Parts: sequence; C-alpha cells; structure tokens
Amino acid sequence: MGLVIGSHVSYKNDTQLLGSVYEAVRYKANTFMFYTGAPQNTKRGSISDELTYKAYELMKENDMALENVICHAPYIINLCNDDNFDFSVSFLKQEVIRCEQLGVTKLVLHPGSSVGLERNHAIANIIKGLNIVLDDDHNVCICLETMSGKGTEVGKTFEEIKTIIAGIKNKKRIAVCLDTCHINDAGYDVSKIDDVLDSFDKIIGLSYLKCIHINDSKNELGSHKDRHANIGYGTIGFDNIIGVIYNKRLEGIPMILETPYIGEYDEDKNKIYPPYRFEIDMIRNKKFNNNLLNDIRSYYK
Ligand code: FE
Ligand code: FE
Ligand code: ZN
Repeated sequence: MGLVIGSHVSYKNDTQLLGSVYEAVRYKANTFMFYTGAPQNTKRGSISDELTYKAYELMKENDMALENVICHAPYIINLCNDDNFDFSVSFLKQEVIRCEQLGVTKLVLHPGSSVGLERNHAIANIIKGLNIVLDDDHNVCICLETMSGKGTEVGKTFEEIKTIIAGIKNKKRIAVCLDTCHINDAGYDVSKIDDVLDSFDKIIGLSYLKCIHINDSKNELGSHKDRHANIGYGTIGFDNIIGVIYNKRLEGIPMILETPYIGEYDEDKNKIYPPYRFEIDMIRNKKFNNNLLNDIRSYYK
C-alpha cells in the first residue's frame, strides 16, 4: 500500500466534484479534501449526478479511490451552542446527505467551541447533536478533528475526543481526524509521534483514526494558536512531518495538506498560489525543498 496524499481543494457550484478532482490531479495527489461550499457560510447548491459520474471517471484514470476522499463540514456548525443547536444539527444532517449523494464516506467536523457554556454541558450537547445526526444508516462517517485549544475549542485532548465518542450510540459512524498542527499547538510533541500514537491508541483506539491533516505549525508546542505553516517551514519541521507520513501504523490513512497558499501579495492580494504540488513532491521524495516560493512562482507564471 502506498501513500494516500492530497490537499484541500476548491469545490465550485458549476464544476462540483469534477472540478475538485481536476485540481487534485494538477497537484499530483491521489486524494483530496473539499468543502461543499464556502467554509464560513451555509449557502449550498444542489448536486449534479452527471458531474459526479464524470468526476468518478477522472478519479479512476488517476488511481484515486472514493473511500479516501474527505469532505470538511463548515466552521459555523457548532453543536455546543444551545442557541444554534437546531440549526447546526439540521445543517450537519444535510451535509451528511450531500456526502452520501457524492459517494463520499468521511466528513470531518470540528467538535465545537463551548464559548460561555460549562465544558461538560458543551460536550453533552455535542453528543446529543451527533446522536441525532447519526441516527440512520447513511454510509457517511463523521471524523471529529483534534483541535489546538484556541479560545474555548473542544477536542484539544484525546480524553475530550474519547468522552464524545463514548456517548455516541452509532459507533461505526464516528471516527477521528488527527491534525498535526493542531496537536502540536495543543501540546502533543510530533517529534515523538510513536508516543503520541501510543497515547491515542490507549485513550481513543487507533482503529478510530480515519483521516490525518498534515500541516506544519507557525507556533510553539502547546501555544493553542492554530496557524498552519508550509511543510518544513514551521516549528514541527520537515523530518518530523515525514516521520508522521511514513509511520507504519498510519499506512493507508488519507493524509491531507491544509498548508497556506504562498507568493507575493499584490494590492488585490491576488498573487498567491497553492503550494500543494510542490509539497507533495517533497513528501514523495522525502527531501525538503528550501526553494518553495521560487519554484511556485516560476510554475504559476
Ligand atoms: Fe479542520
Ligand atoms: Fe485540520
Ligand atoms: Zn487548523
């Protein structure tokens, strides 16, 4: 089994999944992650099965498996919040149905932010909401993302994730997405990935791990900041990131880059480019590219 590596790609209403696959192919990826619309809002168009079938054909030509494709739920879903609870539940449910229609089986979700609520109350709300959403037999698994602990985010420790999972009735539809930037910022030392995985296994169980977000971090271990850096350009470092990607225990799990676009900003902030084609190259070659910016500039010129 080889690497399953890709990045966040765009999803536009006129090209839908087909456009996402084209973008992933340009990055020489063999999987990808997308949002079904803008991550900050809930405007969503209807899905064209014709575009979906074309996307499947293009995936087949490029050795991409549907089971490795990831969808990310929008940030505005917050199951913690009493006021937004009904909205968040119904939107998440619709998101699951959209995934099912696209044939996508993994939906990444931020557990939520407790804001003014007492932590246990917030976690109880998350469990309640997920049990409503997961109370049917759709073939879509919700992957709870490990968070950095910025503000009042829930999910900054493996124990919190475990507590949520323990409350879920439909266990076959719940999983975890590990984000390397987030765990670094939460205080887990990625340079000792085997210790981190031991702890994950003991507390949650490695069988729950179904997606990995590969990001370097702009901030120190335990900073609770959540700012992603390009691979090898942050505090985690290239060798430690490679240590995660090629770890035997993580073989076959889809790995998704969510690193920032780079380039020089003009007045319209237009001249920034996706780094993924070059980061995926670095990862496949296991060789750090200290000339990322120039390579990207000349490629996209
Ligand atoms: Fe995320
Ligand atoms: Fe992430
Ligand atoms: Zn993040």
